[in-house]
Amino acid sequence: MTVAAHKAAEQKVEATTSSERFTLVGEKETYALTIGLEVHAQIASNAKLFSSAPTQFGAPPNAQVSFVDVAFPGMLPVLNERCVEQALKTSLGLEGKINLTSQFDRKNYFYPDLPQGYQITQFFKPIMENGFLDIDLDGRHKRIRINRLHIEQDAGKSLHDAVAGYSGVDLNRVGVGLMEIVSEPDLTSADEAAAYVKKLRTVLMCLETSDGNMEEGSLRVDANVSVAPLGKPLGVRVEIKNLNSFRFMREAILYEAQRHIDVLEAGRTIVQETRLFDAVKKETRPMRSKEDAQEYRYFPDPDLPPLVLKQSYVDQVKSQLPELPDAKAQRFQTTLGLNPYDAGVITADLDAAWFFEEALTHLKKASPKVLANWVMGDVIAARNKDSVAFKAHTFKPSDLAALLDMIEDQTLSGKMAKQVFEESWAQRMSPAQVVEQKGLKQIASRDDLLPFINDVLSAESDKVVAYQGGKEKLFGFFVGQVMKKTQGRASPALLNTLLKECLLKK
Ligand code: ADP
Ligand code: MG
Repeated sequence: MTVAAHKAAEQKVEATTSSERFTLVGEKETYALTIGLEVHAQIASNAKLFSSAPTQFGAPPNAQVSFVDVAFPGMLPVLNERCVEQALKTSLGLEGKINLTSQFDRKNYFYPDLPQGYQITQFFKPIMENGFLDIDLDGRHKRIRINRLHIEQDAGKSLHDAVAGYSGVDLNRVGVGLMEIVSEPDLTSADEAAAYVKKLRTVLMCLETSDGNMEEGSLRVDANVSVAPLGKPLGVRVEIKNLNSFRFMREAILYEAQRHIDVLEAGRTIVQETRLFDAVKKETRPMRSKEDAQEYRYFPDPDLPPLVLKQSYVDQVKSQLPELPDAKAQRFQTTLGLNPYDAGVITADLDAAWFFEEALTHLKKASPKVLANWVMGDVIAARNKDSVAFKAHTFKPSDLAALLDMIEDQTLSGKMAKQVFEESWAQRMSPAQVVEQKGLKQIASRDDLLPFINDVLSAESDKVVAYQGGKEKLFGFFVGQVMKKTQGRASPALLNTLLKECLLKK
């Protein structure tokens, strides 16, 4: 399909996303899209799954490889307890059933980036089954079932342009611990798929069990896609491998959905196969079909005993889980009175949630709702513009709290506060320092403001007459003049009241 045709398909798809069940309109039929995702998340751990080799990103090729990783004869794997703890935390965070006994199996295949000749994974008995993740999209709430979470090793990486004329292999990633998280086919649009991956990424980052960095390959998605005429059983699925950005995942799903429809409408059938997404051409192409799928000859790894967890250990890990975004959003609603939308926006952004909660502890007079509005507005915008994390910036949560309290006690008007915020954020000064330095204190007492008003009204006596004669529109003019005289520091509310009083008296 051409790019133009693909764009058209996307538009067709977009046009229908608002309905409950996402549908695709073909020439002959209306179709339902079904997606199941297999997410590979790199386990946050300093050492690999079965060796003590380090796992830092960006090391020179083959600098982080142990004899175990390259399967030297006689080397034996030793399970890294930290990786198990991380997988267990994630499993509990996804509310799954923990298998106290799970098992490591060998998946046998040959590839240059896999020196062992097999990948160690949990095929027959994963550490977790039957979890779920809730997503929110366009104000709709939906539960996505998770079939399983299992622990497995990563493979290496072929390098095709490191040395001219040769292909190389970088084994740094060999043996790095992964969690494969497999959803049920509960997703019905590219938007839902993106919302699911975003939510999963936030949960992993909140649990600190994966850094969720997609550019560095810490989170990779395989998308299983099928279409079927509306109301009919699920269609034949195709798996698209290794999607490493939200955009590519979206594009790949939409392209694949349209391809299925084209095939079905031409009277042909979809072949179950694995495909790759070409990010340049924006299309998928076959990698291997299931007919010639390798026989992986799975069997339990004889070098590794079953993984047995004590219930007391599971309970202990569970008791130490941090508060997850959904629970936090719930708490923001019930104890702080935030609306569901605001609570959702703030908790979906871990950095913003941190900033919000810290600021809250410093807030004396302003309300949580005011704080939420500021965080979601100017504050997040400033952070995004500078591409920094709040934790790394000199503008502290306590600074925002102090600023908002200054609005509350009339030191600043809302408008002035925005100016103070901008200066404070950019100049690395506290709001109090900015107010001091710029002489920005609001004029909020009658005695201080009256002289300014009287000056203006004396100078504009003819306009005062006109106003009293019925030209009420002039009120705005007087406000503007007083604001000008006070360099914007007059309290808007007080100015309004006093000005009315004065104009009546005159
Ligand atoms: P495999 O091991 O061949 O990848 P799995 O049973 O592990 O097979 O399923 C892989 C994924 O395919 C799961 O995420 C599942 O939700 C998804 N899936 C299964 N059937 C369909 C379908 N008809 N359409 C879309 N996705 C599907
Ligand atoms: Mg699979």
